Amino acid sequence: MLTPRRATRQVALRGASDTVLVGGGAPVSVQSMTITKTADVDATLAQIYALAAAGADIVRCTCNEPEAAEGLAAIVPRSPVPIVADIHFQYKLALAALDAGVACLRLNPGNIRKPAQIKLVAEEAKARGVPIRIGVNAGSLDPDLYTKYGAATAEALVESAQRELAYFEEVDFHDVKISVKASNVPLMIEAYRQLAEVTDHPLHLGVTEAGPPPAGLLKATAGIATLLAEGIGDTIRYSLTADPVEEARAGRQLLEALGLRDRKTVDLIACPSCGRAEVDVIAVAKEAEAALSERQLPIQVAVMGCVVNGPGEARTADLGIAAGNGKGHLFVKGQMIRVVPEADMVAALVEEAERLVAEGAEARIAAADVGAVEEAERDRLALLAEQGDDPNAVGQRVELIRKELT
Ligand code: SF4
Repeated sequence: MLTPRRATRQVALRGASDTVLVGGGAPVSVQSMTITKTADVDATLAQIYALAAAGADIVRCTCNEPEAAEGLAAIVPRSPVPIVADIHFQYKLALAALDAGVACLRLNPGNIRKPAQIKLVAEEAKARGVPIRIGVNAGSLDPDLYTKYGAATAEALVESAQRELAYFEEVDFHDVKISVKASNVPLMIEAYRQLAEVTDHPLHLGVTEAGPPPAGLLKATAGIATLLAEGIGDTIRYSLTADPVEEARAGRQLLEALGLRDRKTVDLIACPSCGRAEVDVIAVAKEAEAALSERQLPIQVAVMGCVVNGPGEARTADLGIAAGNGKGHLFVKGQMIRVVPEADMVAALVEEAERLVAEGAEARIAAADVGAVEEAERDRLALLAEQGDDPNAVGQRVELIRKELT
């Protein structure tokens, strides 16, 4: 079981077609960021739609120049998800993004440091009901905090966030979420743990500059999942050096895997393969994943290498297929329903997944091919006869070992 979610305040990101709540018991949300020029409205909107389809609830766009702010004015009303403007260095671009109608600002305390400017932005955000994320980053920490702590320590990251928060509180602005990102995973985890002790603002989790997959995925997951399991974190972003669609998909998959969001996409499980495998499990699983991930099918699907053990090992899956004797044996909730030629395994699996979601498990079991159970059992027994129920010849090996040792 995961630790219960930490109690926090709640902020609301009001988009043109949807409001996303962050913190205060709201579902953990997924964020990603566009990599197009924000001034290129059509390209940016196309990417926002792709990110939303892959699982992003919130999308951030850079607002790094006046043309970007103007682009945001055209993007915001057409976006399917709330838009956050990413601001560095220039507080005037934060004010311009507010004028463009964004749902949230991200400010980096490390590069907008004049208190009067920070407070002015907070006052303008407050007047519009727009929240701000204080986005502290170990790589761009306020220089005087480097001097004070000698490095970007967890304490330094937390103090940077608290300092910014104090400016906001001076102007009675509290609609704030906070991130303290680092590319070093243990540092990031420690900074968020310390921050969670000293504030009740919702937290945006991320391992910054995690790098390209698969290492980047592993680093981001190590940091984000550790904190989520401790009940810390209200919105997440994978910062990958990859197509941002991968970020959105990874974020959604992590939350589904942890049970923090309802399943929207297929959970593909597959056996690791072994000497009993009757098919190239890796290739079939990859093919099935590619075909199923294009569809919104909220079920668990198993690809198993042999009919001897596969249906039993994957009996808790909603749907599965096990290879054997040149055939694919389809089963629903562990019950055999159809046998198809091996070449049709993936196509049959996809077709059955769609029918299962549309009709339900009971209907698919009721519609099972009456001969399938007998045929699958014949295939299982044929393979057992061929391979035996002891493919590693344990009995003979033990005899051999005993001989060697006597
Ligand atoms: S399902 Fe069959 S092939 Fe896959 S790991 Fe189990 S015994 Fe091996």
